[in-house]
Amino acid sequence: MEEEKKFRNYNTVEERIRDTYRKARNNQNLEYHQLMCEKYLTFNRKMSLKDVFEHLEHFVDISDPDITLPNYYHGLQTAEAIKNDTHPDWFQLVGLIHDIGKIMFLWGCDEDGTSLKEQWGIVGDTFILGCKIPDSIVFPEFNSLNTHFEHSEKGIYEPGCGLDAVKCSWGHDEYLYQVLIHNKCPLPEEALYIIRFHSLYLFHKENEYEIFMNEKDKKMKHWLVEFNKYDLYTKSELKPDSKLKEYYDKLVDKYLNGGLLMF
Ligand code: FE
Ligand code: FE
Repeated sequence: MEEEKKFRNYNTVEERIRDTYRKARNNQNLEYHQLMCEKYLTFNRKMSLKDVFEHLEHFVDISDPDITLPNYYHGLQTAEAIKNDTHPDWFQLVGLIHDIGKIMFLWGCDEDGTSLKEQWGIVGDTFILGCKIPDSIVFPEFNSLNTHFEHSEKGIYEPGCGLDAVKCSWGHDEYLYQVLIHNKCPLPEEALYIIRFHSLYLFHKENEYEIFMNEKDKKMKHWLVEFNKYDLYTKSELKPDSKLKEYYDKLVDKYLNGGLLMF
């Protein structure tokens, strides 16, 4: 009886993940990306980092079913693991904030895939739009649903153009990257690169898209690989205390304008 219940739950989760990836493959294209930029990159909402994390407690990522953990804990665990390995302070801060672009759900809607119910425009592995989608992607059977399915490997881009010049599927990576750029946060380019491409598993895990790499990408890629080691969810229990808060508040002051950002 218990076993059966567990199995049924598992199936439901699996189906929700599948459905999210199917819809992403179906709807993510250059036109949609452009529309989302116009709609969500308005930067007319002021919010503190504290409020962002509070709102994110209500957001459960469909594509990460193991996590019922609030995003603040996931961020803190990632940051602490990075700190324990004596990585630089900006890398620790990236650990803390890398997923806060999911805050998009607050002003999102089902139709855009940017709501609690429909998350295909916020979460999940990303892919490059306007060129062939590699078969090494999760659920490759959905590739034929995409309007860029017929494209060549380079698609609309020039070889060696660099990842900064391509358009990735819209989600929390690109959104947070644009927010940090708009707010002129003094983060090193490595930090911005990790934030922008951490969901592009095709690139940093499957080694696809090499055709687009330029000198910057060759220099930066290892940071994505390094970051991914820490972006895991099975870390030991962590009790956030005032000392930790004080520590990260300092980094937020240094790199995030004191934590008050325009979204
Ligand atoms: Fe993420
Ligand atoms: Fe994460």
